[in-house]
Amino acid sequence: MAAEKLQKRLFGTNGVRGIVGKDMTPDLVLSIGLAFGSMRKGRIAVGRDSRTSGESLANAVKAGLMAAGCDVVDCGMLPTPALQYLVMHHFDGGAMITASHNPPEYNGVKIIEPDGTEMGDEQTVLLEERIFSRNFEIQSWEHVGSETKATQMVDYYTNAIIRSVPENIGNNLSVVVDPGCGAASVTTPKILTGLGCRVFSINAQVDGHFPGRLPEPSLEGLKGLAGLVRSTGSAFGVAHDGDADRAVFVDENGRFIEENQEFALVADYICSRRSGVVVTPVSSSLLVETIVKKHGGSVVYTPVGSIYVARTMRELLEKGENVVFGGEGNGGLIFPGHQFCRDGGMTATIMVAILAQSGLPLSKLIDQLPVFHMIKEKIQTDNPDRLINHLAESCKGYTIDRTDGLRITKGDAWALVRPSGTEPLVRVMVESAVSDSARKFYQELMGYVRQL
Ligand code: MG
Repeated sequence: MAAEKLQKRLFGTNGVRGIVGKDMTPDLVLSIGLAFGSMRKGRIAVGRDSRTSGESLANAVKAGLMAAGCDVVDCGMLPTPALQYLVMHHFDGGAMITASHNPPEYNGVKIIEPDGTEMGDEQTVLLEERIFSRNFEIQSWEHVGSETKATQMVDYYTNAIIRSVPENIGNNLSVVVDPGCGAASVTTPKILTGLGCRVFSINAQVDGHFPGRLPEPSLEGLKGLAGLVRSTGSAFGVAHDGDADRAVFVDENGRFIEENQEFALVADYICSRRSGVVVTPVSSSLLVETIVKKHGGSVVYTPVGSIYVARTMRELLEKGENVVFGGEGNGGLIFPGHQFCRDGGMTATIMVAILAQSGLPLSKLIDQLPVFHMIKEKIQTDNPDRLINHLAESCKGYTIDRTDGLRITKGDAWALVRPSGTEPLVRVMVESAVSDSARKFYQELMGYVRQL
């Protein structure tokens, strides 16, 4: 499968990120614009999330793109999936200035291909080569590109989502939105209102200082959301990360819904209507596969990273497979009839549809899901490869999968051991439907680690 990971120097799993003024500078972003513009001629859409550095860096990427001969359309502040949707329908490419869920001091760039997906590894390596060798096709005065502004275009995105479900499906439903002062402030309240919901909001003023909570929706940060859900008697609360490709939920009691449960609930809804293939990384809970199989569907696993999920979904569809859904166990869900990227606004919309169809409170729907026990730990090591190879050797009697890191299945338990992309450690996940099996398997693995 083409979803194999290639080594990139600058770009991580989700674009380039860094601390503004330190490793994320207008200089760097200008060269990204020049490189991307040299590779893709045509009309390029540019967007940004709500970070204080967004305008400065958006201007840098636009300068590079125009100098390389591209015409630039500035779509203003909007979620990453909104820009991806606009690119898919109207542009030859896109550049999104965002650091997603990272703290306020970060920013970055995501490059969008004409089909709306993030640039894949092969093309990204070529882009990086251009940046490092400064191989840019800078144009003369007759061929420099121009800029237009189209901040109203975000309405194409919100309207498409509203139209994707039956009219007024959210009637009689009160909901609370927490965009965390990020990009979804301009979209999700509007979408949910458009579905007929009665919408309350918290942290819905655009503010790059993120005064209400950090862009990563954590349990601690969502206390305000949970409180407002309870005091307004709302059916659920939805929160986004800074660029709103992810959505996480609290139920009507303000209880946080673990993201694998969210994924499974949505998979249940989708597969009950149309069973088929669901694509997800090897890090997702077995809960998802259990639900998909209940409806006669199957799961295809990919390396960790939404881009591998999105590209695998496309590839399978091109081969004629019936791909109905995909996503990650972090609130990043992909709806193939809509577009091939994670979409937080669409996820909130599907949650409204789920509640409208079932007539049950969200807490009930979650409690009906099978229970799995997951252990997540980190192991400090200077040599992740050595540790992982040692574990693979120690576990060679079990089923081993090397799609990403090391996935070991032993009876009713499985474990995933992966090196961190940024720190000297490996992440370990162990899961089973039986808590004792998960704990025992985890202890067995730690025994092998101690041998080193
Ligand atoms: Mg994000």
